Amino acid sequence: MARLAEVRVETPSARTLVLDVPGWPGNLAGQHTDVRLTAEDGYTAQRSYSLGSSGDGERIELTVQRVEDGEVSPYLTDVFAVGDPVEVRGPIGGWFVWRPSDPAPVLLVAGGSGIVPLMAMIRARRAAGAKTPFRLLYSVRSPAELYYADELRGAALSGVEVSYVYTRSAPDGAARAPGRIGVADVNTGGWPASFEPACFVCGPTGFVEAVSDMLLALGHDPRRVKTERFGPTG
Ligand SMILES: Cc1cc2nc3c(=O)[nH]c(=O)nc-3n(C[C@H](O)[C@H](O)[C@H](O)COP(=O)(O)OP(=O)(O)OC[C@H]3O[C@@H](n4cnc5c(N)ncnc54)[C@H](O)[C@@H]3O)c2cc1C
Repeated sequence: MARLAEVRVETPSARTLVLDVPGWPGNLAGQHTDVRLTAEDGYTAQRSYSLGSSGDGERIELTVQRVEDGEVSPYLTDVFAVGDPVEVRGPIGGWFVWRPSDPAPVLLVAGGSGIVPLMAMIRARRAAGAKTPFRLLYSVRSPAELYYADELRGAALSGVEVSYVYTRSAPDGAARAPGRIGVADVNTGGWPASFEPACFVCGPTGFVEAVSDMLLALGHDPRRVKTERFGPTG
């Protein structure tokens, strides 16, 4: 049984949960877990959450966005307290993963909470001391909605090129007006298809589908465009 060790406030509606998971076998960057809650009457609810952490060790990190009216996420962000137990299954997934031994340039495209597994890749690059060329294109509603803001500033210093797409309100002096991500953003914030980058796209289903279409239109090989959809299941 996992236990909550620490909580970090990412945004007004998102929390990073640091969990101690006895027997956790370690995980690759990009994998996810299934978290299962059980009520006193035995009713259970299970949801998937990406791992923001990777590597060996029995401590993992998730970042959960509160979905208003949701069954599981408001419990995890607002009620779940340090010391509380929770069931965690995983790691799950072997396709949407990045290994530091892969030398190809990497393009990460995140929509909202889709940044979580992509941050695991940025952290894995740093932990391995890798110099792999990385670019991150991160779409969020407003600057207040950015996860890992300070860490991403640090990542920019260690050679990860980060660009932001603000969909509702942009900070003063932003390079572009607020609006949904478009092919021009993917073209400028990404790598040319001729560099044959490994592309990882994660976020809500509609975002992932739109960005994948843009990458294919820009000539990227579909076999190098990996996607993870956070949309509701069922
Ligand atoms: C592989 C995978 C990885 C994921 N990783 C993360 C993660 O790292 N962080 C994170 O916060 N979430 C992640 N999710 C989404 C997560 O699994 C839940 O869907 C989300 O927390 C909502 O659950 P809920 O029980 O609160 O809402 P529910 O009770 O399931 O749904 C409540 C209402 O919200 C809608 N809804 C459900 N899910 C979403 C959503 N994701 N976005 C918008 N509306 C939604 C439903 O259609 C419904 O109307 C991931 C999903 C998948 C499949």
